[in-house]
Amino acid sequence: MSIEVRNINKRFGNFTALDDVSLTFPDGELVALLGPSGCGKTTLLRVIAGLERADSGQILLDGEDSTDRDVRQRKVGFVFQHYALFKHMTVYENIAFGLRVRPRSTRPSEAEIRKKVARLLELIQLGWVADRFPTQLSGGQRQRIALARALAVEPRVLLLDEPFGALDAKVRKELRRWLRQLHDELHVSSIFVTHDQEEALEVSDKVILINKGRVEQLGTPWQIYNEPATAFAYGFIGNVNEFRGRVDGGYVHVGDDRISLGHSNFANGQDVVAFVRPHETEINPDVHNGEGITAKVHRIQGKGPVTRIELVANGEARKGKNEFFEVELPGSELATLGITAGQHVKLTSKRISVFDHQNGTGKP
Ligand code: ATP
Repeated sequence: MSIEVRNINKRFGNFTALDDVSLTFPDGELVALLGPSGCGKTTLLRVIAGLERADSGQILLDGEDSTDRDVRQRKVGFVFQHYALFKHMTVYENIAFGLRVRPRSTRPSEAEIRKKVARLLELIQLGWVADRFPTQLSGGQRQRIALARALAVEPRVLLLDEPFGALDAKVRKELRRWLRQLHDELHVSSIFVTHDQEEALEVSDKVILINKGRVEQLGTPWQIYNEPATAFAYGFIGNVNEFRGRVDGGYVHVGDDRISLGHSNFANGQDVVAFVRPHETEINPDVHNGEGITAKVHRIQGKGPVTRIELVANGEARKGKNEFFEVELPGSELATLGITAGQHVKLTSKRISVFDHQNGTGKP
């Protein structure tokens, strides 16, 4: 089912939780709503589900205005962070629940219910726990059951609110792979909320990045990671080195230092913020070389094939944000560079992204 969100606004008192949000979710896709805590992700999910009413705007399901329809009429399946399984019911009964409470006219027969629950248990690879109670399951297993329960009623859309948020890192990773496989099998239009960028980028077909109740960027995981549209998107996705300065003669001037601007629309005198990813930041041990941002090597951490070098801006720890830079190098390169802690170096990059200091976009 396709979902269209048109000009949705939602306020809580004086606080704007959703600010004129318009989005289209194509049929059969798995879409991640990603953003920092409090940005409005859950509110948007609840408005789509019909659990929350927007102050203005429309929700269209398969092209039909569903703004005034309730949750049941919208036929959405919901999975929350805290598995809301019924404790006094077995796994089997939990999954069968949505089918049993249907009105008599649409309720499947006992044999049909049995067949359906067995199929769902097979799908989530948990047939062997059918007779257990929720307290006898691990957190990951409970979330898989919660998903099976939501799928039992054949929802037209599946909404997942931080479904793996309460689980440890290893289980999260397993389950996100599993969710992707399940989605490829079923193709139910799904939207899932997460604040974990790795999770969003790994699992989804599309990512919608939200900031302060507005859509900051919409794109494939590749676009979101490689072509962040705004300063916020750049800073939120992945590790990043940030330099604030002023454009002059094809360079960004940061204090007494300068770094090549590359291709950009910015005119001389413009205040900008420049970003470089740690693996695209180069270290030059020759501090007398004209270009680069001066920094002092603070710590060198070898972890497997990648060496992470932490540096202090301008050789000194400044108060506040971004006093540290990070560079990632293949371990073999470190030996060639011969860098040690305490040494002054210059940082350069061939891939620098520059945004307007004021509006955070790539346009002056
Ligand atoms: P998180 O990742 O922390 O769950 P979120 O992006 O899902 O964050 P929302 O739950 O959508 O954020 O909340 C957005 C903002 O709206 C928050 O500042 C929150 O405090 C506020 N908010 C949400 N629900 C209510 C409510 N019922 N009453 C008042 N304020 C609310």
